[in-house]
Order: sequence, then C-alpha cells, then structure tokens
Amino acid sequence: MVTRRPNNVIAISVLLAGAILAIAVSLLAQMRDDALRRAQDSIANISLLVQRDVSRNLEIYDLSLRAVIDGLKQPGVLDLPPEIRQMVLFDGSISAKDMGSVFVLDENGNVRFDSRAWPPRASNHADRDYFKAQRASPDVGLYISHPFSPSGTDDDLRIALSRRISRPDGSFGGVVVGTLRLTYFHRLFDGMKLGPSGSMALMLSDGTMLMRRPYDSKTIGINLTGSANFSRFIKQPSGDFFGMAAIDRVERWYAFRHIDGFPLILDVALSTRDVYVEWRRRAWIIGTLIGALDVTIIALAILFSRQLRLRRAAEEELRELARTDGLTGLNNRRAFEEHVNDEWRRAQRTGRPLSLLLIDVDNFKGFNDLYGHSAGDEALIGVARCIAQNVRRPGDTAARFGGEEFAVLLPDTDATGAQRIAEQIRAAVQALQCRHVASTHHVLTVSAGAATAQGAALATSRALVDAADEALYRAKDAGRNRVMLYGAPTDHSSRDGAAVTPDPDPRRAN
Ligand code: GH3
Ligand code: MG
Ligand code: MG
Repeated sequence: MVTRRPNNVIAISVLLAGAILAIAVSLLAQMRDDALRRAQDSIANISLLVQRDVSRNLEIYDLSLRAVIDGLKQPGVLDLPPEIRQMVLFDGSISAKDMGSVFVLDENGNVRFDSRAWPPRASNHADRDYFKAQRASPDVGLYISHPFSPSGTDDDLRIALSRRISRPDGSFGGVVVGTLRLTYFHRLFDGMKLGPSGSMALMLSDGTMLMRRPYDSKTIGINLTGSANFSRFIKQPSGDFFGMAAIDRVERWYAFRHIDGFPLILDVALSTRDVYVEWRRRAWIIGTLIGALDVTIIALAILFSRQLRLRRAAEEELRELARTDGLTGLNNRRAFEEHVNDEWRRAQRTGRPLSLLLIDVDNFKGFNDLYGHSAGDEALIGVARCIAQNVRRPGDTAARFGGEEFAVLLPDTDATGAQRIAEQIRAAVQALQCRHVASTHHVLTVSAGAATAQGAALATSRALVDAADEALYRAKDAGRNRVMLYGAPTDHSSRDGAAVTPDPDPRRAN
C-alpha cells in the first residue's frame, strides 16, 4: 500500500494541502472579482441616477428660460400692467429652491426685467462670459457659465444658464439668464453612498470643475484639461476605467457619462481600498484558517510518517531477530533452511556446485561438565567467530544449526573448496587453544562433514544435509578433530590439519 511508505504520506499530505490552498486561492480570486463587479454596478447606478436628476432639473430650468423668450414675443405682453407681466413672463418653477433670479438683458447687457423685482434692480452684465458668448453666435443654445459668486463668498457659488434673444431679423436682442446654486449639486452628491474615499465630480465639457465630492471650495472652477482622467472622459459618451485622481492621488474605479443635451460630464468613483476592504478582511480570515489547516495536515502527516518509520524499523529489527541466533549472532536454523532451499534451486538452475558443511564441537558435553555451562557458551561464541572469519564470501551462509552444531552453506563451491574451508575452520578452532582436559586433543576441537551437490548426484536439499551429516558422523567415528568429505575414501580426510597443504588462496576451487 502506498500509504505505508513514510515519504508517500508526506507527499500525499503536501498534495492535499496544495489542493486546499489552490481551491481557497481561486475562491478568493472569485470573491475579489465579485467585489469589483458590485462596485462597478453601484457606481454605474449612482451615475445614472445623478445624471437623470441633473438633466431633468436643467431641462425644467431651460423650459422656463424658453418660456420667458416666448412670452416676450407675444404681442401685448409688454403692454400689460407690471404685476401681470411678471406673472406671465416668469412661471413658478423659477422660484424653486437653488434657483436665483432670472434676468432679461437687453443687447447692451442692462437688465430689462427681473423675476424678483419691478422695477428691475439696475445692473450691467455685458462683461459676463455668457453674455459675450450669446452675443457672438446665434447657435449657442443653452449656455452654462463658469462658476461665480455674486456676493464674493464661497458658499454662494452659482452657475448661470442663459439663452439668446434673437430679433425677428436674427440680430442679437439680448439674453435671458438665470442662476443655479452649486449647493444643489453638493446636496445631490452628498446623498449618495460612496464609501469613505469615494469621489464624484461634475464638470463642464471644457474641463471646468463645477462640483466635487469630497467638497473643497478650492477645487470649484479649476480646469482639468490635460489631466489623465479628463482626457478619458472626453473620448467617449460613457465608460469606466481604473485611474488615479490628479487632485488627491487616490486610486479609484471610475464610471463617467456625458449628460444628454448639456455640455456636462459626470464621474462617480469608488476607491480601490473601499472596493476591497470587506474582501480583504475575509481573505485574511479565510487565508489564516486555510493556512492553519494546511500546516495541521502536513504536521499530522509528518508525525504519522515518523510513527510509520519507527514501526517499520521495529518490524525490520524483529524480522532480523527472528532469523538470528541469540548466543552467537549467526543465522538460526530457520533462516538457514530458507537459504538452503533458495540456493538449492539456484544451483539446480545454473548447474553450479553447492556445498554444505556440518560442524560439531567435540566432546562438548564433557566440556560443559568440566568448566560449566557459561564457559560452554563462551566456547560456542568462540567457535562461531572462527566459522564467521572463514566464511566471508557474499552468498556464503553460516548458521547455528542447533546445540553445539553449526552449518555453512557454500554456493558455487566444489568439494575441494568445501574441504579447504572446513579445514580452515577446524584449524582455527584448534588454534584457539581452549583447554579441554577431558579431550584426547587436550583443547577444544570440532569435527566437520562436507557434502557437495553437483548435477544429479544428490536429489534433494534434504539429501545434501543428510550427506554432510553422514560425513560428520564418519569424522567423529574416525577420532574427531577432522574433516570428512561425503563419498570420499577415508584417506581424503584430514587430521590435525596434517593432510591439507596450506594454500595462499585456499578459498576458491572454481
Ligand atoms: P561428540 O564429540 O560426540 O559431539 O560429543 P558431545 O558431548 O559434544 O555430544 P553430545 O550430543 O552428547 O552433547 C552435546 C552437548 O552440548 C550437550 C549439551 O549440554 C551441550 N550443549 C548444547 N547446546 C548448548 C549451549 O547452548 N550451551 C552450552 N553450554 N552447552 C550446550
Ligand atoms: Mg558434539
Ligand atoms: Mg552434537
């Protein structure tokens, strides 16, 4: 199972954490887009609303100015008694809130009629921009002036709306002009919900600022021509974009539109900070939770994989222990038998020789009786060391077969090679010079039986073991401390090492 591998556990947890993070990031990105879309909808709605209110009021005002001009054309109106004439020329709407007096000016700019007084207050308006504009051309239509303050104070700023009076021959006959207080736009703008850093502005098409929120009297009347945002406003009848205000350097989303039928441009903008403030708060919460979740997942996976690693190590140790002899550290019989079976099959397949040694400590019962059981154990450890030191080739296997009996499996080794190794072991044990007074050799010795399987000589692995056992029995029988080869005549055996000539490389026969 993949999850049993400690590194896989961590890899899976990292993938999972990554997937959760990816989902969260894509959700947050979607939420961010939604926030922007909501903001765009809201500024579009506000700009539409304000545009309608402004254009309706200006239309009404314009209609009143036209009514004055129409009234002046009516025969007999000028002959009416002054009070009646005032009523005919100036209808009720002119006296509405935010609207100032309406004047009829003659061709020299002098006031002929005044909606609020008869006789009219004497004044001359020939130097005003609207008067000059209307006088210069018959096609100006409704002219909206730059802001001005009749009293000279900032809280009485107005614009003048004017129309030309043309005589029947088309020549200039004067101007009808009325004023509108900018507080009308101020109030209109303040009524809209725009967030703490939102802005709105109403401009003349020539770039003159009429009203701006946040309100600052210093910005009224300034000219925006050439500013980045205004350059975009004049390109299209309406649109939206992301930009920065020249006045306060705040980044905002803008929606703008030209007010139908009037030389006016309106823009409404929400600051990006306000647009994303709620999203940012949620992103923090979600991001923190997801981060904590991911860290927890990975931490748990690391803990789990560590436990898994410990368990695998413990299992490995147990498996090793189950195959090892506790006293000598050699393989135990069970492990050895597995090796014998494996090597037997391999030898059958390859046709290579396979040799087996059985080694038994001589007169060991007597050793135990004389020197005690623990001295016997020490002696067995010494014998095991002699065996291990002489069985070094990878693939060779030494094991404690049981009691004071050992076995050595030698793949790819023929009878001569097996006999050499057995002899080396026998000589090494004798060389330990471990005193054994009850033995005829006076020191601890071993006897060994060797058998070799090659081709069809021995039918089964069991038969190989039995053959080595038989050779061992013959070694015992012949007086112990010697090596016997299965199937060989007695004079092939060695005794006290005398029959085997030392060889510089005695290991390999093949
Ligand atoms: P032989 O030369 O014929 O092999 O004689 P022997 O005395 O070695 O043979 P025997 O089979 O009669 O005795 C084997 C003894 O080995 C008996 C037992 O007490 C001793 N022995 C077996 N396993 C151990 C062990 O783990 N530790 C010790 N100290 N003695 C053991
Ligand atoms: Mg013995
Ligand atoms: Mg024995």
